[in-house]
Amino acid sequence: MPVAHLDDLLARDVSGRRVLVRADLNVPLHEGAVSDDTRIRASLPTLRKLRDAGARVIVCSHLGRPAGEPRPEYSLRPVHAELRRLLGGEVAFCADCVGDAAQAAAKKLANGEVLLLENLRFHPGESANDPDFARALAELAEIYVNDAFGAAHRAHASTAGVPALIDERAAGSLMEAETDFLERVRVPERPLVVILGGAKVSDKLAVLEALAPHADQLLIGGAMAYTFMAAEGLPTGASLVESKRIEDARGVVRAAKSRGREVLRPTDHVVTASLEPDAEQRVVEEIPDGWLAVDIGPETAERYAGAVALARTCFWNGPMGIFEMPAFAKGTLRVARAMAESPGTTVVGGGDSLAAVNQAGVGEHISHLSTGGGASLEYVQGSALPGLLALER
Ligand code: ADP
Ligand code: MG
Repeated sequence: MPVAHLDDLLARDVSGRRVLVRADLNVPLHEGAVSDDTRIRASLPTLRKLRDAGARVIVCSHLGRPAGEPRPEYSLRPVHAELRRLLGGEVAFCADCVGDAAQAAAKKLANGEVLLLENLRFHPGESANDPDFARALAELAEIYVNDAFGAAHRAHASTAGVPALIDERAAGSLMEAETDFLERVRVPERPLVVILGGAKVSDKLAVLEALAPHADQLLIGGAMAYTFMAAEGLPTGASLVESKRIEDARGVVRAAKSRGREVLRPTDHVVTASLEPDAEQRVVEEIPDGWLAVDIGPETAERYAGAVALARTCFWNGPMGIFEMPAFAKGTLRVARAMAESPGTTVVGGGDSLAAVNQAGVGEHISHLSTGGGASLEYVQGSALPGLLALER
């Protein structure tokens, strides 16, 4: 069923009308300040468009997991300061997202003004999708826009309850961009190459199982590669292996092969005697006893880069090694550069993977940097997201 987009909404006159925008302003904080403003920046286009159209813009979001009670360390106040700076111009703030204070703040807005409400999760009704809480939020506005792709996999009051109560509703620009690009992974121009890495098979099992039979080539890196190697009976030394996931890893490879797809794993490795900075390192084809594999080796990196170069569509989640340590970042940075050089559609998701792309300085050459986290992975797995379903009409 179709979802209305922000531009459909703007084609009608929204001037003077109150619009509740569910944004994803769930950013990391460090010592009371925003330490990464990516998600705030990603939310700006929708807010600017509405503001410029003269709407009265009421923004709500969650931040962290305050477990249904007001906790100052999860306040959106630091986000408010950053939003003001980035959006340019005044942004009002209300210390509660519902109730008399929120109602009054919403009523006070003039055309083209923006109000940020305090953390939705200060109320238990948000995560519980409580009907009374949803009604209290919905009462603030006449129009609802969901731009919080990163929260679309949750059936919470602000993502599922409110849109059921407001007929005039639409997806924001970020929501639209995320779904457009991730849809190109679900229904790809082939060959589709998927690169999965990161720490654990158990974190990524659902996406591995969904994408192994779907991708023409699945390239495995990061610590999860050693669980796949253990599944083949290969030596893994002291590398991270999830013994409880070895059978799952076998299943992933079997599922891919039964569909005629290819799963590639590292064939050379950067190993270290320990994670101490001055520990001895080597590049090996067979991981020696007691040594830790911490990055894909240079040959593997070239092989993976070659596969990426031939892809028409490429999706990457999860670093190839402990890229936070410069000595073990080469494989990850090589893959980031290969993605940037690929002529196909390239999509990167995952907090650490985005950090790696930025570390490589190639962000602008990737077709889409997905800020959706868990929601992005669920979407490419083919799951229906409650936040998107609720926008349909
Ligand atoms: P993303 O945030 O992009 O989804 P993950 O959180 O799944 O990625 O994985 C990132 C983490 O995986 C990083 O902290 C990285 O150090 C770790 N990692 C990658 N390869 C290895 C490895 N060989 N050994 C230990 N940790 C690894
Ligand atoms: Mg991570």
